[in-house]
Amino acid sequence: MSNYILNVVAPQTEAHMINYRVTSSSHTYAKTLCFIVIAVLTALSLMIILTLGSVPSDDKIYAAQEGKLDISTKTGTDLFYLKGEWNYYKDVFLTPETFDESLLVGNDTVSIPYPNVTRAQGTATYKLDLKFENKKDLLLYIPYLEEPISIFLNGKCLAPIRILSPIAGTGSALYTVSNYDQNIEYQQLVISTNKNPEDSTFYERYVILAPLDSINTLIFSSSLNQFIFFSMLLIITFNGFVFMFLHPAHKIMSLITVFDALLLIFITMSLPAVLDFFTNLSPSFALKDSTKEIIQMILLMATGALGISLSKEIFDPEFKVNKKVWYDGCILLFIALCILFLWDMTIYDKYGIAILTISLGITFIGVFKRFKAYYDANGLCVYLVFQACKTVYLGVLMLSTITMQNLVIYNNLSIYNLFLLFIVLHLIMRLHDNYTSHTEVARLNTGLEAIVAERTQRLSEANAALQKSNDTLNEISIKDALTKINNRLHFERKVEELLGKFNEQTGSLYLCIFDLDFFKKINDTYGHEQGDKALIEVAAIGSEMLPKNCIFARIGGEEFAVIFIDMDDVEVLNIIDALRVKLETESKSKTYATTGSFGLSKYGTNMDSKKWFVSADKELYRAKAGGRNKIMADFIKD
Ligand code: GH3
Ligand code: MG
Ligand code: MG
Repeated sequence: MSNYILNVVAPQTEAHMINYRVTSSSHTYAKTLCFIVIAVLTALSLMIILTLGSVPSDDKIYAAQEGKLDISTKTGTDLFYLKGEWNYYKDVFLTPETFDESLLVGNDTVSIPYPNVTRAQGTATYKLDLKFENKKDLLLYIPYLEEPISIFLNGKCLAPIRILSPIAGTGSALYTVSNYDQNIEYQQLVISTNKNPEDSTFYERYVILAPLDSINTLIFSSSLNQFIFFSMLLIITFNGFVFMFLHPAHKIMSLITVFDALLLIFITMSLPAVLDFFTNLSPSFALKDSTKEIIQMILLMATGALGISLSKEIFDPEFKVNKKVWYDGCILLFIALCILFLWDMTIYDKYGIAILTISLGITFIGVFKRFKAYYDANGLCVYLVFQACKTVYLGVLMLSTITMQNLVIYNNLSIYNLFLLFIVLHLIMRLHDNYTSHTEVARLNTGLEAIVAERTQRLSEANAALQKSNDTLNEISIKDALTKINNRLHFERKVEELLGKFNEQTGSLYLCIFDLDFFKKINDTYGHEQGDKALIEVAAIGSEMLPKNCIFARIGGEEFAVIFIDMDDVEVLNIIDALRVKLETESKSKTYATTGSFGLSKYGTNMDSKKWFVSADKELYRAKAGGRNKIMADFIKD
């Protein structure tokens, strides 16, 4: 039962929509290997995400109070995440006129590929007073810069010592914070940006201060962000390909998931840079930050809608649900976003918030009605749950963007969470499907084996019965029922066969017919049964005494015949006489036994089977007439 291919169209779950190509032994090794690789990769990524690349724990986040922050470096490797509450000073800013090149410190460290990172024109400036318990050299790390900034420590401008991973117009900058003024308690850290204070959310970001000796950790964790990001994408893609290969039903799901992931990455990461690119091409295309976010939202909505539309055939294979409920909601949201866009409103404005929240709410009610319709029509399907989770996530992302008025979309942590969710759901789904199909196949295989075994058993039984009846038929056709020696029909066939290939020059044939004497008397005296017994005994004696190459048969009631092959007259006569004597001896000891009379004929030229039989019969008659218990032969002349 190895290597058979079974096509099964099984009902119910999405994985069963297509035919399984089941090979009982092949692919098992590949499957195991793939699962191990996926499991290891996933475990590794999760480990990295949860440990190294994770969000700082709360006890390491230092929130400034009234613009003042006390920092004590207890251990050499502590990182300090300074979040929010940076004081905003409208009147303190730097302009190209006031920018003093000579104030730059650390200029000699590295050349800077992104000069505008240090050339903020100071539209908005943030100031933080830092108190360091022990005056250690520190490193200031500002991740995800997408606007020019300038950093000042106690009025002196700092040059970045390194710009990390500048991708898609954003980068991270590293500054050393070492020129403390020993005489003052609080060191003044000023960050000046080009952004409009209304638009800039710089103060919402994490700015990291770290002891200088942990610079490697910082650089590592920064590049780690990229690593995690791309390794996640790789896992999803790899996962998709592996499952495409293993199971055709996964092909479309894997493609949609990878496609979704790519779109989301693009929208959340690269879109602002793409929009900036167009702004650079033509100043008339300049977009407000809030407008960019509206565009992002529209695209996120579109991604969600596209994902659901593409995967519809997975969770609604027979297209039972075809009402366009949720599209109405989407159109409403789309119109709302268009209004905001065309009237140049910001989404942070109270009308903007109101319009977006209402239309978003209606949209999501529509979307979930739609999900419910799929569920009602087709039952629960893991991929539906997956799409629903994704929609909830996008919804939360959008709502928080509107209501919290910050760039949550830009926040890398959200993106990581999203991908984590994607991967976990994706894997659960795959394992579930694989398990379902395996169980199904195992069930079918077991059933099939049982059926085959049962059929084989029945077939062999039938074969045995057939063989038995064949044997019986065969025996009936050639054997005499009473004596179990050859019957007349078979004897005659054998005679014809022998005569067909007989050559008088090289061989000889003798026919002896013998008849039991006064047999009627035995029947009459002792009964038919005793007569039968006598016949059986005569047949047994003949079979025993006659040579093996003789053909011995019962050709009538108490009449027997023998063919002797390739013997001479004397040999044949001796054998027959021995038989005659044996019968005679038996008749003396057993009351129901009797003697026999023998007629013998040698086959010769001008003879045929008929003449041969007649001749033997004639000799038998002569033996009877001559007093019985005698042998008469046509080759012995009186
Ligand atoms: P003869 O010496 O002249 O041959 O005398 P006979 O009595 O043997 O000859 P006859 O032909 O008169 O009788 C043959 C008898 O053999 C008649 C029949 O009852 C008996 N017989 C034939 N076939 C069977 C059989 O199968 N079983 C038994 N018990 N008797 C049989
Ligand atoms: Mg007879
Ligand atoms: Mg007889």
